Amino acid sequence: MSLQRWAFPLARRFVAGESLDEAIAAVQRLNDDGFAATLDLLGEDVHRTEDADRARNDHLALIETLGHHALDTNISIKLSAFGLGFAPDAARERLEAVLAAAAHTLRDPFVRVDMEGSALVAPTLDVVTSAFARHRNTGPVLQAYLHRTPADVTSMIEHGIRVRLCKGAYKEPPDVALQSMHAIRVQYLALAAQLLAPRGAYPAIATHDPLLIEAVKRVADQRGVAPSAFEFQLLYGVRPDLQRALVADGYRVRIYVPFGTRWAKYFRRRVTERRANLFFALRSLLGR
Ligand SMILES: Cc1cc2nc3c(=O)[nH]c(=O)nc-3n(C[C@H](O)[C@H](O)[C@H](O)COP(=O)(O)OP(=O)(O)OC[C@H]3O[C@@H](n4cnc5c(N)ncnc54)[C@H](O)[C@@H]3O)c2cc1C
Repeated sequence: MSLQRWAFPLARRFVAGESLDEAIAAVQRLNDDGFAATLDLLGEDVHRTEDADRARNDHLALIETLGHHALDTNISIKLSAFGLGFAPDAARERLEAVLAAAAHTLRDPFVRVDMEGSALVAPTLDVVTSAFARHRNTGPVLQAYLHRTPADVTSMIEHGIRVRLCKGAYKEPPDVALQSMHAIRVQYLALAAQLLAPRGAYPAIATHDPLLIEAVKRVADQRGVAPSAFEFQLLYGVRPDLQRALVADGYRVRIYVPFGTRWAKYFRRRVTERRANLFFALRSLLGR
């Protein structure tokens, strides 16, 4: 057994499975409990054309399989898996192939484009904006910790493009990103308030931070933004208690469900952003 397979039980708290069957079963369970999902076939940072083509083909196969299931899920992708780092035009073509297939096949055809390290933010937004002009079923993630994000939020609102707002999961230097949690929370809330409008483009508020979640609920309430006009998004395996409480309170909640064999970088980000996640993973492994 490889080291990767041996280590997977540890990652399992945050990764639905290494196979699509396991991921589909996880989405079905989430749907039964009142959650929508977004499936992420893990993989990122490819450097060869054949690997980027394989990633596109894997996503097309995923969409075809999902088309045979009546699940409430869309998909999330990373453009670095489609070769954004070395061939942005080809990455856009791969994304557009996925958008067209999703539009024809899926009950929820939306394809979320995750945001990666700061070097990829401008190229990702260029690709998403240009793909959006031809296919409406896509929108990016914006990271509240970046100094550039207020301008990007304004631009996405002007284009009418759906945004998922998160804090940001990559280590960035002070000239690129806010460093203190207080400053990140302040900027997050200001940006969420901008995105939350009665006739806004259905923003996704992606955080497990109870302070921000409560503040966002208050802003939505004060502005008359109906709970059906936005959604909270949380990660598979993180704060299941909070996930259930939001659904019980009548909010729309989408769970980000990563799966596949390329889970190492995703798992490392979860542990890096919060050391306690390693403890939770160990506790799940021990069944307590
Ligand atoms: C759906 C979704 C999609 C995302 N997509 C991206 C993306 O495309 N690009 C990107 O860079 N990042 C992405 N992220 C990650 C994000 O940027 C943050 O790194 C991550 O969500 C941690 O920030 P937080 O606000 O959730 O909580 P944190 O800042 O880690 O924690 C804030 C507070 O929340 C509570 N809390 C958080 N986690 C736990 C826990 N496990 N147990 C108990 N309490 C907890 C604690 O009270 C803590 O003080 C995504 C996050 C989500 C939820």
